[in-house]
Amino acid sequence: MTRVLVVEDDPQLVRALVLNLQARHYGVDAAPDGVTALRLAAARQPDVVLLDLGLPDMDGVDIIRGLRGWSRVPILVLSARQGSDEKVAALDAGADDYVTKPFSMNELLARLRAAVRRTEDTPADPAAALVETEDFTLDLAAKRAVRDGQDVRLTPTEWHLLEILVTSPGRLITQKHLLNEVWGVSQSSKTNYLRVYMAQLRRKLERDPSHPRYLITEPGMGYRFEG
Ligand code: CA
Repeated sequence: MTRVLVVEDDPQLVRALVLNLQARHYGVDAAPDGVTALRLAAARQPDVVLLDLGLPDMDGVDIIRGLRGWSRVPILVLSARQGSDEKVAALDAGADDYVTKPFSMNELLARLRAAVRRTEDTPADPAAALVETEDFTLDLAAKRAVRDGQDVRLTPTEWHLLEILVTSPGRLITQKHLLNEVWGVSQSSKTNYLRVYMAQLRRKLERDPSHPRYLITEPGMGYRFEG
């Protein structure tokens, strides 16, 4: 049974989440504040954490940092706030994904399943080195990209960027993370690097680069590969 830790201080929302999760045969623990959340996370070893960022006793980002000190459990953030700064801070602290309130229960459950599935994927599997879409195929081990039967030439930087995105399908990767990984910089002033390289990758791989289907921009936040 997949265990979910729900960290949320709104009792009505907790009730709705618990009912919906139990109806789908998840085991559920609920914590109304950060101290309880950290205690339950250690005691119950959940498979996934749903975390509200606005809690009475602690900042949600501090809870993520606390969990990441010892656990790789997927963390799905529930954020009421519209601004992207807090979501980016949560993702950079180690959250896996976020859902903005109000959310549909179906969307939340889909994101939850995806977060759990990602932890079950075995990265050592050689088949995982092959990424196949309707429009192109990537062999990550051989560093080979093929589109319409033709080899596509990618620069080492393009490969690096692409590899980070395609090995976490569906997951939002922040600009800061990509800049750090690929260029070793974290200044947001360098986000134009990203725009340039993403545009190149789309020109090389997407059927309609101005309406990308695989390399998706999350405005102000980062990028996502949809496989
Ligand atoms: Ca709250």
